[in-house]
Amino acid sequence: MIDPASPPRSLPRILLAEDSETSAAIVARHLQGKFEVLHARDGLDAWNLLAANPEIEVVITDVQMPRLSGQDLLRKIRHSDVPRVKDMAVLVMTTSNDDNARQEAFTNGASDFLVKPVDALELRARVTVHQKLARTIRELETSRQMLQEQATTDPLTRLKNRRAFAELGLRHFALAQRHDIELSIIVLDIDHFKKINDTYGHPAGDQVLMSVAHVLTSKTRASDLPARLGGEEFGILLPNTKRSGAALLADRIRVAIQQSQFQLGEHAITVTASAGVAAYGLDGEESLERLLEVADRRLYLAKQRGRNRVIAMN
Ligand SMILES: [Mg+2]
Repeated sequence: MIDPASPPRSLPRILLAEDSETSAAIVARHLQGKFEVLHARDGLDAWNLLAANPEIEVVITDVQMPRLSGQDLLRKIRHSDVPRVKDMAVLVMTTSNDDNARQEAFTNGASDFLVKPVDALELRARVTVHQKLARTIRELETSRQMLQEQATTDPLTRLKNRRAFAELGLRHFALAQRHDIELSIIVLDIDHFKKINDTYGHPAGDQVLMSVAHVLTSKTRASDLPARLGGEEFGILLPNTKRSGAALLADRIRVAIQQSQFQLGEHAITVTASAGVAAYGLDGEESLERLLEVADRRLYLAKQRGRNRVIAMN
């Protein structure tokens, strides 16, 4: 029975490279109803169709074909820079007496073999196995990427979280040590954030956090790494940046935050932030932890001296 709630599923797409119309028609007929078959008349045609159709899940190829042979097609696929193409399931069709072709195809990275004339049941069984395997591998890869993304992203602001900041921070710190590259960090904290939450409620507080995150993203370069370290505290990792440059950027961010009016219901409120800056070399060379301590201490000083300011030196 068909579940009316589930969307119609399209058939898995198979690419068939075969110069013989007769043989192609037989294979297509065997797969009819279970798979959608794209037919390429030679290896080059197949290669182009493969590039243009990311939905293709399995390739079935003949060996002898004009312009580009099945063996050459297989080699091109296995040497592709595109993981989807490189890891494609490729089934090679040979005649029963051609052991050399099978050996060569195996060496070239064939996933499986079919003997012509192909048997309908064997063809369907093999294509099904490879198509399901390909789909499972793809799904695993997608969920691995999603888990990775969840583990490193702050769900409210979509910035990197503390964990990702620490991991990437360690990596950049090691690079700075090894190659003597500049590295600065900014630690920034929204002033009187508790008061915003208490006065306007937590949804308003969340809105302020998201806006500040937006300022951080829009004011930094693609190579910089803004992150939410927790609560109302943010960190920015700045590779290839001197302390003076980081201090300037921190101040531009401070001004941008102060200038954005937060519309919370009928209230327009002004938010300010304080920041501390520290740099590899000037403020420590032993560890990232030490740099963070220095930046934190300067942030604390900024708060003590009246907030809405950046401190980059003692
Ligand atoms: Mg042929």
